[in-house]
Amino acid sequence: MNKYLGQLIELQKLDIEIDSFKPKIKEARSELDSILSKHSNTLLKIESLEEEIKDVELKKRKNELHLEELSQKLKELSSKSNAVKSEKEIKALQLEEDIAKEQVDFANDEIERFEKLKEQKKSEIEELKKSYEDLKAELEKIEIQTNTKLEKIEEEKREVYDRKQKLLSSMTQNVIVFYEKIRRWAGNTTVIPVKKQACYGCYMRINDNTYAEVIKGEDITTCPHCGRILYMEHQEEKEEA
Ligand SMILES: [Zn+2]
Repeated sequence: MNKYLGQLIELQKLDIEIDSFKPKIKEARSELDSILSKHSNTLLKIESLEEEIKDVELKKRKNELHLEELSQKLKELSSKSNAVKSEKEIKALQLEEDIAKEQVDFANDEIERFEKLKEQKKSEIEELKKSYEDLKAELEKIEIQTNTKLEKIEEEKREVYDRKQKLLSSMTQNVIVFYEKIRRWAGNTTVIPVKKQACYGCYMRINDNTYAEVIKGEDITTCPHCGRILYMEHQEEKEEA
């Protein structure tokens, strides 16, 4: 086989290996990332509950103010009732007083309801703070484990990069540029085997001349349809021989 072709096949193998590190890193980080997201979600929930409490306090305060107004009004009504004489006036005042008292009851109920709501939200926050602390402890533990895994992957990665660097330094610049240009669109199928006289990248049949060139393997041959670099797999060579 052509020396350059052999180098290109090897180069692609290393590139495929390099690409495989990304999912490996993601996998190694998955547990840590999931706890991290739970951790920050818990914090967000706490913050939003604190906002809700402020809102509840505001509503409660409004009712308290209303209650003050109502008690003022009831005082006024009671002093007025001492002054009025006619039956009609007494009835009208009585009605006003009844309405005000009803409003007092309602405001009191509301205040009580908001107070309960506030307590409920406060205890939710306490629960969340507890799980926040638990997650923090877990996070520290998982972080150590993850870092160990990541360091190992980094080491493997460095080793593959070293091998690639060594290979590249032994290759001709033109060949590398040619490969990189195709790789931009073909990715890990830049150098592709021919099977049953078809390019295994685009699955199109290649003509007899090209096929003969690929079998000879003296030059770098590209697929006439898609432009990928073609090579003959040893096994097939044997089968067809
Ligand atoms: Zn092709």
